[in-house]
Parts: sequence; C-alpha cells; structure tokens
Amino acid sequence: MVKPNRMPTTKQKTLYFFQWQPENPFQAAPSTHTRKTTTMTLQHITSCRLPTEHGIYQMHGYQDSQTGQEHIALVMGDITTPEPVLSRVHSECLTGDALFSQKCDCGPQLKAAMQAVAAEGRGVIVYLRQEGRGIGLINKIRAYALQDKGMDTVEANLALGLPVDARDFTLAKEIYDHLGIRSIRLLTNNPEKVHTLQQAGIHITERLPLHVGIHPENQNYLNTKAQKLNHMMKD
Ligand SMILES: [Zn+2]
Repeated sequence: MVKPNRMPTTKQKTLYFFQWQPENPFQAAPSTHTRKTTTMTLQHITSCRLPTEHGIYQMHGYQDSQTGQEHIALVMGDITTPEPVLSRVHSECLTGDALFSQKCDCGPQLKAAMQAVAAEGRGVIVYLRQEGRGIGLINKIRAYALQDKGMDTVEANLALGLPVDARDFTLAKEIYDHLGIRSIRLLTNNPEKVHTLQQAGIHITERLPLHVGIHPENQNYLNTKAQKLNHMMKD
C-alpha cells in the first residue's frame, strides 16, 4: 500500500483531523504549513473591474498573511441576496488556464465556469494560486516528465516524494466570508472538494458537473482522476 509521504504533525493533526483519512492513500495530505483555522489568514487588499470574454467581473485580490501567496475572486452580479451563489473554486493551472495545455481539463473547466456565471449574470469564481494541486510549477513539470515515461499523475507525485494533493480549500471559506456569501452551488466533478469545503464551513446546496475539455491527450489523466481521485466523470 502506498502511503502519503507527509504524515501530519501532532499540531497539524489537531487542525486537520476532520479531513485526514490515512486509510485512503490518495487523500489530500495536510498542507505543509500550519494554518490556524480559527483566525483569518487572508487579507483583502484591493479590487477592480475586469472585463473578460465571459462578462464583466469585479476582481478582488487577497494575500495570505502566513505564506504571502496571492489569490483572487471574480464576482458577477448581486451576491448579497439570499439565493445560493453559483460558484467554482478553481486552483491555478498555468499550463491549462494560460497555455492551452491538453494534458488536463483545467482551462476548459475555468472557461465553462465563467460562461455559466455569465449566463446566470451572478456568481463567483474563487481562483486559488495552488499550482499543480499545490506542489508548484517546477514540481509539476517534474511530474509531467515522469508522466512522459508512463507514470500516471498520482504515481508521478508519489515518485517525487510529493503529496498527491496539497491544496488548502479553507482559503475559499475566508474569501466567501469576506464576500458575505452564505451558500453556494458548486461547479465541480470532485466530491472530495465538496466534502472539504463543507468541512471548512461552506454551505453547498448543489453540485453541478463540469464535463468539458475531454481530449485524447488527457484521457489517461481524466481516467486516473476518476479511478484514483474519485472524480465523477459522468453526471
Ligand atoms: Zn490543469
């Protein structure tokens, strides 16, 4: 049995016990930095208008006071009314979001989420700068190099001694709180993300699938996500 390489410290275990399931080798390991879940770590810095191909958004910039990392939220419409807000929590994928990579489905998912928000005229894209499921850009390139030799995305991360998923979705809770959002309808194929966001205190009334960006180049990647990371590839 393959074990996640980063076991939680006692302190982290206390903070993350609710989402740490060591019996599942593909469960996201706790973040390497210790995060106090009871205090806000994200500071809202500034906001601006952002016209895009998929409508005009208000872009809010946040900075993590612990790590210095910067994150954003794209807001459209009046999100202060009580109806659940259509939302995607998207983790940065430079290769997919900006370079049109066909190794994953991130770019098409981001585009589809922005189009869905634009179609409703109301919603939020929370964009977290957690490149490569949190391992960083250079490590992602290392993992891709191993995938070129036949490993899948999970095997490659483990071979590099990296967590399969190091993302911290509690950041999204702080952003929703800042925006005054009480409940969301989440665009995702990832049930683990639904579970983690719910554990972080976010009220999710509905999960909406995003089946886009399927391509011969990423078929193995999508199959791995379905088989090893429990993503739902069908509605
Ligand atoms: Zn991607």
